[in-house]
Amino acid sequence: MSNQNPVFIPGPTNIPDRLRLAMQVQTQDHRAPDFVETFAPVLEDTKKVFGTTSGQIVTFPSSGTGGWEAAVTNTLSPGDKVLVARYGVFSHRWIDLCERHGLDVQIVDCPWGTGAPADKFADILTDDTAHDIRAVLVTHNETATGVRSDISAVRQAMDSADHPAMLFVDCVSSLASMPFEFDRWGVDIAVSGSQKGFMLATGMAILCVSPKAQEATKTAKLSRTFFDFGDMMAANASGGFPYTPPLQLIYGLRESLKMLFEEGLENVYARHHRLAEGVRRAVGAWNLNLVAQSPELYSDTVSAIYVPQGFDSNALTDHAFNAYGVSFGVGLGQMNGQAFRIGHLGSLTDVMVLSGLGAIEMAMADLNYPITLGSGVAAAQDYYRAGSSGRAKAA
Ligand code: PLP
Repeated sequence: MSNQNPVFIPGPTNIPDRLRLAMQVQTQDHRAPDFVETFAPVLEDTKKVFGTTSGQIVTFPSSGTGGWEAAVTNTLSPGDKVLVARYGVFSHRWIDLCERHGLDVQIVDCPWGTGAPADKFADILTDDTAHDIRAVLVTHNETATGVRSDISAVRQAMDSADHPAMLFVDCVSSLASMPFEFDRWGVDIAVSGSQKGFMLATGMAILCVSPKAQEATKTAKLSRTFFDFGDMMAANASGGFPYTPPLQLIYGLRESLKMLFEEGLENVYARHHRLAEGVRRAVGAWNLNLVAQSPELYSDTVSAIYVPQGFDSNALTDHAFNAYGVSFGVGLGQMNGQAFRIGHLGSLTDVMVLSGLGAIEMAMADLNYPITLGSGVAAAQDYYRAGSSGRAKAA
């Protein structure tokens, strides 16, 4: 029998049957008049997930990385200054992309396990009286460390410095799983992808672009062709695509949005919080530590967990895969060998998460970790049972 187990990596996530079926469509003519009837409502509905009425949705056949590139190349010119904090592999990779595009990147290095330092940003932006900094880039959910940054605090820092820089946010591993407020937080570009909260196959970058960022495209001189916002927006406005669209993913996104709205976005966020909290209870019962340094930083989509001194987290994730056929996230960057990650986002239930906790517990016990078999599962069960009776009463 092929492996039927869910994955517990923080994306790509498990694809529900309903979405696999929705993506299984025969080729259709994307230049036919009915393409607009399919695509336009999808763009409109996607705005609800970003929390915007003022922003415009742009999609590219790509992954999140292409979305980063699109954000930068459409709005900035060579030598432009951007401000970014580095606190994990993904914030680092966005920095690397900016540097390779010839931007002047002011990096604030933060300990991994912390998030975007709004207070430091406020000081730097206040000192930048010439307003050289053109954009502040923030990774909302650092998937390498399981840290969620406070975007509204970054916005307040920018406002308190009275600074006109644009705010670009990577929400690849948070959108459609944790609350996102594009308009309220004053975000100028948000970058996401199809394969995490949307529960789809990888292959589509999904962005939201503010009017201010659209204005910036008029003077931005970084080169772009495939990722040109102007070409994409113009084609979309007349009901088309500037090149061959990933039709199957567009059908998938249409169905994914239906699923998210049927559950209700607030319920989606509450489910992710509940799943995450159960995992955190298990981590506590194992006497292990999260990489995230304090509760306000805890991510509801991924938990990065330090293994005890003297243990190798790669041996643990390898063993869980080889012995039990279950994938967990490896430690990335400076966490490699020291931490493993449990992805708890997308199409998951309490019971599925319990199976993952059970599997990693078996793997830890096999490798002589100082844990009590069943303790993490029991802690999560207690938490989920309490929530479950509450839900039953409410119904
Ligand atoms: N940003 C974050 C926070 C991510 O987690 C990832 C991928 O895991 C990326 C960016 C890169 O996205 P992709 O792998 O889709 O190119």
